[in-house]
Amino acid sequence: MDGAYGLSDSRIETRVISKDLPALEQEIVKCRRCPRLVKWREKVAREKKAAYAGEMYWGKPVPGWGDSKAKVVVVGLAPGAHGANRTGRMFTGDESGRWLYRALWKAGWASQAESTGRMDGLKLRQVWITAPVKCAPPTNRPTPVERDHCGVFFRQELEQLQEAKVYLALGGFGFDAVAQFFHLKPKPKFAHGAEVCLPGGRWLVGSYHVSQQNTFTGRLTEKMLDEVVRKTGRRAGLSPGNR
Ligand code: SF4
Repeated sequence: MDGAYGLSDSRIETRVISKDLPALEQEIVKCRRCPRLVKWREKVAREKKAAYAGEMYWGKPVPGWGDSKAKVVVVGLAPGAHGANRTGRMFTGDESGRWLYRALWKAGWASQAESTGRMDGLKLRQVWITAPVKCAPPTNRPTPVERDHCGVFFRQELEQLQEAKVYLALGGFGFDAVAQFFHLKPKPKFAHGAEVCLPGGRWLVGSYHVSQQNTFTGRLTEKMLDEVVRKTGRRAGLSPGNR
């Protein structure tokens, strides 16, 4: 799906005074603005999954991370309860992360194929990974109010990533959040493999989310994910496989 959506202005529109990424991260990890999510993330961190009973959970908002000069921004939904909410790094510590980082590694954008924790030595090149909602929500469903609260952080984060050429949205939630950031009208329809032209020669690319719901059922296969990552690399002008 190609289309001339959005603004003609090549700048990313700035409506709030943006903090730099390290300052933003500090602010995010202290945030307690959504009472339901604060309660949930801390309850999960206290009660834990049996498999991780001996571990200290992060239990706080999870900031985006990666290369601040990234040409590709991967946009998910929110931290997983026993994944990112446990490890403190987006898409880390659960099955969905295993799929994502393996694909990024194959593309040459990650220094290793697995992400196991904040101190595992993994480095990202040309890619930033984030989500519009920074706290794990019950049943992976933030409310519209929670989405809007966290949208303040999401917008500031995207404003800081000025080198970004392609936003790879994993799922409709992230897709819509990027579309909203760019004020696209009409709102583009999410689909796996969708490509939407953004202001300033940027692109929004859609992929099914790497959730177990999709990968266990075969709705998203490794081949499909690799192909959408290749498409993203082409749109971003990155050469493939040069790790
Ligand atoms: S979801 Fe975002 S706005 Fe809400 S408490 Fe977490 S970090 Fe704060």
